[in-house]
Amino acid sequence: MFDVVVVGAGPAGSMAAKTCAERGLKVLLIEKRQEIGTPVRCAEGISKKGLQRFVEIDRRWISAEVIGAKIYSPDGTEVTMAEEMAGNEVGFVLERKIFDRYLARLAAKAGAEVIVKTTFIGFERVGNALRVKLKRMGEDWEVETKLLIGADGVESRVGRIAGIIKTLKKSEIESCAQYLMSGLDIDENYTYFYLGNDLAPGGYAWIFPKGNGCANVGIGVLPSIAKANAKFYLDRFVEKLEIRGKIVELVSGAVPVYGEVATAVADNIMLAGDAAYHSDPITGGGIANALSAGYHAGIVASEAFEKKDFSANFLRRYDELWKADFGWKLRRNKRLQEFFLKLDDETLNSLARSIAGKNIREMSIEAIIAELIKKNPSIIELLKSFLSP
Ligand SMILES: Cc1cc2nc3c(=O)[nH]c(=O)nc-3n(C[C@H](O)[C@H](O)[C@H](O)COP(=O)(O)OP(=O)(O)OC[C@H]3O[C@@H](n4cnc5c(N)ncnc54)[C@H](O)[C@@H]3O)c2cc1C
Repeated sequence: MFDVVVVGAGPAGSMAAKTCAERGLKVLLIEKRQEIGTPVRCAEGISKKGLQRFVEIDRRWISAEVIGAKIYSPDGTEVTMAEEMAGNEVGFVLERKIFDRYLARLAAKAGAEVIVKTTFIGFERVGNALRVKLKRMGEDWEVETKLLIGADGVESRVGRIAGIIKTLKKSEIESCAQYLMSGLDIDENYTYFYLGNDLAPGGYAWIFPKGNGCANVGIGVLPSIAKANAKFYLDRFVEKLEIRGKIVELVSGAVPVYGEVATAVADNIMLAGDAAYHSDPITGGGIANALSAGYHAGIVASEAFEKKDFSANFLRRYDELWKADFGWKLRRNKRLQEFFLKLDDETLNSLARSIAGKNIREMSIEAIIAELIKKNPSIIELLKSFLSP
């Protein structure tokens, strides 16, 4: 019998388990893989602010620190967003193999029981609790719990069985492929983003430096409009840019670009991170939101124990917290994504030209939009129709 069972030891799950355990709850954190953090399905980029809210920075899991981002339109026009070196908003490229394990260790240190090679299979309701069915090292295992937190990623089995989320459409998911490459000759002070309807339909390509000439070189495409799989576009991108380096790893994965779900709860159940489609619809970034969702789920779990109320009605407090924190941004960025999807390459080029060479001193979508509006007042009306409630 556990107070809380958390499924999935990614950033959302470990943060939820840690937060619950710190508040005195008896927590089981399970992970289906035998090693937490591998294989890495991530480009590992995150803002300093997104990290620092929840963990103290530890250099052991920072691969590289960047001072800005360079964005390239289809014709190669460069837009640079660069922080002051002394600024507080610089970005990091993580080493998630170490980061994810570190987070799980924090959860264990706080008192959570962490068990790997254990897969969530399903659950049944028993009175006011759940009997959770697991497969541990090939053996059936059942545990009882008052609360189940599904942090089991984009294909969340918890979410589907609980009926909280529906299967994503092809237009609601980015399909990604990424190489870890070594021997690259790049300026490692920046992350690089490449746009273009032909280059990366419905998405973008990226190069995120990891130090010592290594980088994550990847691409995300929207399957609803792409004519081939992500790996095809990745190979074409590497060839077109003449990126000379050795491919050390290949990963593929999916990122939800859904926007804001109506709810991430059911009786006795909360979903956090990619399981609740918490990734950003424009950037595809989901680590910071996963940490934040895991934290809020942990807080509401402990409140539910204080009130002895595990109903969906009570757990909606969790919905309120994540929606106020970043849900509104998912909703807005979904609309912005739909706006950007309508732009052809020529428009992307002319928008990029209008702000090329400007000093954009903040690395954010807001800063880019503000600059675009300043230089192209005519897009305000167009944007309004996408952003109006
Ligand atoms: C190619 C790619 C590049 C990306 N780049 C970035 C980036 O640069 N920056 C960024 O912020 N985000 C990025 N993302 C998104 C980011 O990786 C996710 O948003 C983030 O990992 C979500 O964390 P999570 O804890 O919700 O889920 P995950 O990290 O997916 O963790 C879920 C865990 O649950 C486990 N699990 C699944 N099913 C079960 C089960 N039935 N039983 C037990 N365990 C289970 C999985 O093994 C996994 O360990 C990228 C994603 C992809 C695919």
